[in-house]
Amino acid sequence: MLKTVNSIDETMAVGKELAGLLRREKLNIFLTGGLGAGKTTLIKGIGEGLGIKDRVQSPSFQLVRKYGAPGPGSLTHIDLYRLKDAREILELGWWDLLEEEGVTAVEWADRAREILPDGAVFLSIRMLSETSREIEYEKK
Ligand code: ADP
Ligand code: MG
Repeated sequence: MLKTVNSIDETMAVGKELAGLLRREKLNIFLTGGLGAGKTTLIKGIGEGLGIKDRVQSPSFQLVRKYGAPGPGSLTHIDLYRLKDAREILELGWWDLLEEEGVTAVEWADRAREILPDGAVFLSIRMLSETSREIEYEKK
């Protein structure tokens, strides 16, 4: 499934809609796309859709950040940008993080290719222009 968005708000709306569709079910979302594609922006939308009050930020120096009250409706944000080795994220409890209730959203998912679960939901974001993005939804 492909969708073109033309603004930051439209990218956030995709995340928000996704969170709304979930109705507090468990979901892992794996995001790919270059620097500045809009992965964090989309996850901000997921946070909004889940009703999380804290502002979702780029984890930058942390690989993992958790938002919202633990349980259904929470958000676990993983950013593998600085990952050196798959072992590093495995040591942080990768499989437990993926089983965390609520949404687990992983940026730079392609860096963990060897340790992705089957049937994962992928969102690949491609820059079309300064403000336009193509978002591809795939279940692999
Ligand atoms: P990533 O996490 O993929 O590196 P970010 O979400 O942090 O990307 O940043 C996306 C950047 O692109 C922001 O600076 C934002 O202002 C800009 N931008 C412009 N148009 C869009 C759009 N349609 N969707 C998302 N971000 C956009
Ligand atoms: Mg980011």
